[in-house]
Amino acid sequence: MRYVQKNRRIYDFSLCKLCGAAGFMTGTCAISTCMACETPQCQSNGGGNGRCSVCYVGLLPGWSGNAKACRYKGCDARAVAVDGKWPVCAEHLEKRRPGYVAAQLANRDKQWICIAA
Ligand SMILES: [Zn+2]
Ligand SMILES: [Zn+2]
Ligand SMILES: [Zn+2]
Repeated sequence: MRYVQKNRRIYDFSLCKLCGAAGFMTGTCAISTCMACETPQCQSNGGGNGRCSVCYVGLLPGWSGNAKACRYKGCDARAVAVDGKWPVCAEHLEKRRPGYVAAQLANRDKQWICIAA
């Protein structure tokens, strides 16, 4: 199960027939679940910076450099997102951007669909 964008375009040359991604992988993308908003999605969504295409700040496991610790002093929790240049844990993300993840999830329900594959 993963989320894909409702308005995605799938071409003959798309290697992944679920999200339409072309180029750097073969076959269907692996599923990667965002550590911040917990949306399962095609791993190719992280192309460029390894971040989630739903909430834009969440880290997608499987991309290099995404195992980071929270940058807040005295907090050694695992970072789930990068806010600006700062890797932040779930608690500190919510403190810096109250309600942000929930708002992105509400938006996801308008622009993305959940498919069984
Ligand atoms: Zn894909
Ligand atoms: Zn996310
Ligand atoms: Zn933290």
